Amino acid sequence: MKVTEHIERANGKPLFSVEILPPLKGQDVNATFKTLDPLVELNPAFIDVTYHRQEYIYKQKENGLLKRYQVRKRPGTVAICAAIQNHYKIDAIPHLICGGFTKEDTEDALIDLNFLGIDNLLVLRGDPIKSEKSFVPEIGGHAHASDLIEQITALNTGNYLDDELQESHAMDFCIGIAGYPEKHFESPNLGMDLYYLKKKVELGADYIVTQMFFDNQKYFDFVKKCREMDINIPIIPGIKPLTSFNHLTSIPQNFYIDLPECLSMEVLKANDKETIKQIGLEWCINQCKELVEFGVPGLHFYTMSNSNNTKTVAEAIF
Ligand code: FAD
Repeated sequence: MKVTEHIERANGKPLFSVEILPPLKGQDVNATFKTLDPLVELNPAFIDVTYHRQEYIYKQKENGLLKRYQVRKRPGTVAICAAIQNHYKIDAIPHLICGGFTKEDTEDALIDLNFLGIDNLLVLRGDPIKSEKSFVPEIGGHAHASDLIEQITALNTGNYLDDELQESHAMDFCIGIAGYPEKHFESPNLGMDLYYLKKKVELGADYIVTQMFFDNQKYFDFVKKCREMDINIPIIPGIKPLTSFNHLTSIPQNFYIDLPECLSMEVLKANDKETIKQIGLEWCINQCKELVEFGVPGLHFYTMSNSNNTKTVAEAIF
């Protein structure tokens, strides 16, 4: 079922949903089920599976010195989505990225996802890999999520790349996109970022999932600005609890967001790991309670494939 239908059917009740990463090489699907089993008890409406480009290092052992780097797509997203849908009968949402995909690769991936009965996609440009100063699109691929949305909406009306297939079987993907309450890190200002967000909506996006934030006012202001600009699709807040001392630096560095001063100070004053975790979880529960009161369409948890913290927060809300 489409995310938009889930929201409609919930009739004002917020949806619970989660995001996981595809397991690392060498793990089997049971590693994913082990993460998801405790969360499935709370009836998630859908489960997102991220997609990544990754740099792999091959060491050439013969001369000992040479290292060869190769960029590949991290496998697992599509197969894990299929496994989730088969095992739990819950909608799985693959993230679809521009990075590493030509338009033809994208079309093939969409055909496969359609065969697998996937109804929703979270459509993204993708992160730059470590060795890139800024995002480098694949030759013959897309530079922005908006270009990828155009290709999907074309397929949603039966328009394939190949002229001979024009007007053939239309797909019917519901399209999610990313939104940034604290603006995307490359954008010179929030206004310009919202300009491109609106473009993605005009091209066919059906709902937005936000980057994580720790100050609800950022989300409230973002929603207000979106509505003023006539961006009227559902805006689902992305949630992640801060649970370790390292998060004080790693979260702002990795996600280009601010942490509220009072939360940082509370963590700084804490003496041990357990107290820090409790501070972060309590903060997150209070955040979620306020968001639910505001009337959000759902709470989407970035689990980072760790179910315990998400479960503690979600149990206090749902
Ligand atoms: P875009 O919409 O292309 O925007 C990128 C930048 O370009 C912005 O500054 C925007 O203002 C600007 N822009 C947008 N459109 C245009 C245009 N047409 N012309 C000029 N400028 C434009 N990354 C992964 O690699 N894999 C994942 O699975 C993944 N999942 C994510 C899930 C969520 C909910 C979120 C919030 C992020 C996720 N990311 C993921 C990270 C995301 O890929 C990065 O934030 C990336 O840098 C931008 O992606 P985007 O889709 O927002 O890009």
